[in-house]
Amino acid sequence: MQTPDYQRLDRAHHLHPFTDFKALGEEGSRIIERAEGVYIHDAEGHRILDGMAGLWCVNLGYGREELVAAATEQLHRLPYYNNFFKTTHPPAVKLAEKLCRLAPAHLNHVFFTGSGSEANDTVLRMVRRYWALKGKPEKQWVIGRENGYHGSTVAGMSLGGMAPMHGQGGPGVPKIAHVRQPYWFGEGRFGEGRPAGQDPEAFGRECAAALEAKIQELGEDQVAAFIAEPVQGAGGAIIPPASYWPAVKAVLAKYDILLVVDEVICGFGRLGEWFGSVHYGLEPDLMPIAKGLSSGYLPIGGVLVGDRVAETLIEEGGEFFHGFTYSGHPACAAVALRNLELMEAEGVVQRVRDDVGPYLAERWAALAGHPLVGEARSLGLIGALELVDPASGERFDSARGVGPLCRDLCFAGGLVMRSVGDTMIISPPLVISHAEIDELMEKARAALDATL
Ligand code: PLP
Repeated sequence: MQTPDYQRLDRAHHLHPFTDFKALGEEGSRIIERAEGVYIHDAEGHRILDGMAGLWCVNLGYGREELVAAATEQLHRLPYYNNFFKTTHPPAVKLAEKLCRLAPAHLNHVFFTGSGSEANDTVLRMVRRYWALKGKPEKQWVIGRENGYHGSTVAGMSLGGMAPMHGQGGPGVPKIAHVRQPYWFGEGRFGEGRPAGQDPEAFGRECAAALEAKIQELGEDQVAAFIAEPVQGAGGAIIPPASYWPAVKAVLAKYDILLVVDEVICGFGRLGEWFGSVHYGLEPDLMPIAKGLSSGYLPIGGVLVGDRVAETLIEEGGEFFHGFTYSGHPACAAVALRNLELMEAEGVVQRVRDDVGPYLAERWAALAGHPLVGEARSLGLIGALELVDPASGERFDSARGVGPLCRDLCFAGGLVMRSVGDTMIISPPLVISHAEIDELMEKARAALDATL
């Protein structure tokens, strides 16, 4: 089949996630056929640097034979068996042990899921179950953040703070509220009534104070948990001011509210530590994971559970009526285990922290000098550019679609960068080399020039 055939059949039968079906029908999909290292190849023979690691997940890059071998061996040996009731299998057990060893010391149990969304569904049920077992069933409210992303299932969508998602498909899960995100560039520097140049650290504390105000509004004894990504990913690679997390921790401790840190993007080295929680000194009660867990080679997620919650669920809970057919799927678990072994053996996390992270940071920061860029920020291997009108230095009217234009020009120029409105984002494979970072920079700059 040729590209037009694929495009015709795609248009006729395939509903893409997060896509305007009609617009896609008019433009036609780009067919991606193969990939190696940090590059994807389309059917037209273009080689494109994948600055997004797929969807923030292909951390070890494409074409790792060791991961293919791990899947193949496991599929031959035991392609499927479940972990319900009183059975399990070696890959699930070994992966559970490895995860608990890599995670902060108080996280000693894991519940497997098939995705990040399912992990967050699991979180919601665990949090409410925990408080019910503790004799506080009134603690039901979960507070997330505006623009946070926790998945696309009904619970994931409800926990997330994406207004367009809330606007479709009817009401979400009850008793979930959202508070202000620590988005300094958008809401601090340019927020209503805020003079440009106001202190970002004061803004970080203000966002934590907004959380406390919401807790008081909902009722101090009614709030079960706060859920947040260490760095907000899909919302625009939003790196909080240094004051934010310590202030949030203090608020949660004051009201005895569980902390859920969604590590689906930040986990497994993205910020230069095994988990974003380590970077920010957080001690989450629950930690949803997915994506980089298997470098995206096979779908798997999970929830790492802290001792406080695990002990209650185990000792007092009886049967937990929850689980998925593919919880801890053997082939997915085998690939995830091999992925983590390779990351350890190759020192991938340390390399992000000490080598490629700082290398990227220096070059990325230089893009702030481009007339179209109002801010260039990065941490580890996640980065964002805020596009502004060169004439005024103000943000564009989002209806102008400058970010999506830049994204399309970027793709045409051989680099995948994502746009969240007018925020351009990168999250490349963690194995990216210095030379490939240089190429990424060149292509990003060329796309900015072309957008002007
Ligand atoms: N949580 C975060 C922070 C995410 O970024 C995502 C996906 O992008 C999810 C949860 C949902 O994961 P999945 O798409 O595997 O369901």
